[in-house]
Parts: sequence; C-alpha cells; structure tokens
Amino acid sequence: GAKEGGRNSYRFYQADMTRRAQERLTQERSLRRALEEGEFEVWYQPKLELADGRLCGAEALLRWRDPARGLVSPAEFIPLAERTGLIVPIGELVLDQVCRQARQWADRGLLAGRIAVNVAALQIERSDYAATLRQALEKHGLPATALEVEVTESLIMESPNHARQVLCDIQTLGVTTAVDDFGTGYSSLAYLKVLPINHLKIDRAFVADLPHNANDVAIARAIIALGHSLGFHITAEGIETQEQLEFLRGAGCDQGQGYLFGRPMPAADFTAWMQQRRA
Ligand code: C2E
Ligand code: MG
Ligand code: MG
Ligand code: MG
Repeated sequence: GAKEGGRNSYRFYQADMTRRAQERLTQERSLRRALEEGEFEVWYQPKLELADGRLCGAEALLRWRDPARGLVSPAEFIPLAERTGLIVPIGELVLDQVCRQARQWADRGLLAGRIAVNVAALQIERSDYAATLRQALEKHGLPATALEVEVTESLIMESPNHARQVLCDIQTLGVTTAVDDFGTGYSSLAYLKVLPINHLKIDRAFVADLPHNANDVAIARAIIALGHSLGFHITAEGIETQEQLEFLRGAGCDQGQGYLFGRPMPAADFTAWMQQRRA
C-alpha cells in the first residue's frame, strides 16, 4: 500500500545518498592522487590589447590529465577541490608552475605582459594569499609585474572587508587585481568603488550574442562606462567572432581574450604561438 511505497522510496533515497557519498569520496581520492602524481597542467590563453592587437598577457587555466578520463575541464573538478580544501595546495601548485614558466618566457624575452591566475575564495580565507604570492615571486626571482590575480564577485561579497585587505596587500606587492566573470555575480557598487581593483572582466555570457542582442549591447556598454569611470581597465572574455571584436573595440573595451585570438594551450604550444606571431 501507500505505507509500503513510502518505506521503499525512503530506502531508495538512502541507497542514493550512500551511492553519492561514495562517488564523492572516490572523486576526492582521485583528486588527491592527481596532486601527488603531478596530473595537473597549466594551460595559457593569450590576452590582447584591442586597440592595436598587441599581446598583453595571458590567463593561466588549469587542466587535469586524468589517466582514466583524459583531459578534464576545471569546471568539473574545481567545485570539488573547493569543497574538500584541496584547492589550496592545487592553487599553490598552479602559482609555482606559472612563476616558473613566466621566468622562462621573461628570460627569452617572449612575454612582456602579466599572467593572470584564478584564485578561489578558500585560498583567500584559509591562507595568507599575499604572502604565498610574495614567496612564489621570490622563489623564481620574478618581478611582481609578471602577475595578475583574478577573483570573483562572490569571493569579494562573502567577506568584503577581508577581501579588500587581501586585494590591498596584493596590490602593495605590485601584482594587479581583476574581478572575473563580472556581471554574473551579485557584487554591490558600494564595495566596488572602494576595492583595490585594476581590471573588470566582462563575462562571456554578455559577449556571446554581441552585437545582435540589444540587451547585451546595453550591458556591455554599461559595464565599460561604469568601469572606466571608476578607474578600471576592462577586459572582455570569450571573443569568438570578428563582429564581437569590432563592437567591443568600438565601445572602448581595453583588452580581450577568446578563441578568435587563441584557445587555451599547453605552455609549449603558447611558446610556439608567441614565436610565430613575432616572426
Ligand atoms: P574563467 O576564469 O572565467 O576562464 C575563462 C574560461 O573561458 C576558460 O574556461 C576558457 O577556456 C574559456 N574561454 C576562453 N575564451 C573562450 C571563447 O572564446 N569561447 C568559449 N566558449 N570559451 C572561452 P576553462 O579553462 O574551462 O576554465 C573554466 C573556469 O575554471 C575558469 O573560468 C575559472 O573560473 C576556473 N579555473 C580555471 N583554472 C583555475 C585555477 O587555476 N584556479 C581556480 N580557482 N579556478 C580555475
Ligand atoms: Mg579567470
Ligand atoms: Mg572569466
Ligand atoms: Mg567566465
């Protein structure tokens, strides 16, 4: 009867919960193994100055080369890494790899601009991130002008005072700061105006339908105007077409990244990409 069905569905529910808990545990274990076995790689995507097309830096994007699954996208494992705290050691690994790579590119006179590193909320909460940055720069004999840090609106809004302090410490080092995926979160303009921020990055959700979607046109123009009047530089993400590029350049957007210029690529490929552009 109904009672019996209820009991059964409860049992199913329990079985489902157990299965999901086990799945999570398995995933966490493989993430730990990935860290120990060196399965993480940093890929690089070029950033260009829109006015003249000059290469002005790159964004470091994490990839996991899982022997079983192949290349795994960060969207699939960053949330778990954040929940388990593994994002802290993973973030340090990314920073170390980026600094080592930046040193090599600087020595070969290849990359003049900054490499932007994505930072998760937990890294700012759990560790003295500015100190971590300073140590990484010192270890690799790198000037602070080699790096930029990208944080999200939600990271800022979770604890605005702490975030402001950390961003301030980061800027004091000489590393610049950017707000990533701008417009998709819920940051308050009151905080934005007092935060030590150098760049706003327009999320690619607003770029995808430019210049045909009138709302996205309005949003992109508004972010550029607001950002500029608050003294920020504006970067657009996800530029895939010439039309998008022309619209954004015309609207006064400063920098951009996207498949139109170059996809994220392994360090060796990015080296070749830079050498080829130069020739
Ligand atoms: P994000 O920081 O907003 O990075 C931009 C994402 O857009 C990247 O996805 C990039 O590959 C993608 N992208 C760039 N240009 C285009 C384009 O023209 N078209 C399309 N469709 N996509 C484009 P990816 O590499 O999969 O990274 C996803 C997210 O994972 C990142 O978003 C960032 O939030 C996070 N992430 C990546 N690396 C790290 C890391 O080292 N630490 C932390 N905490 N998060 C990271
Ligand atoms: Mg980013
Ligand atoms: Mg972004
Ligand atoms: Mg984004």
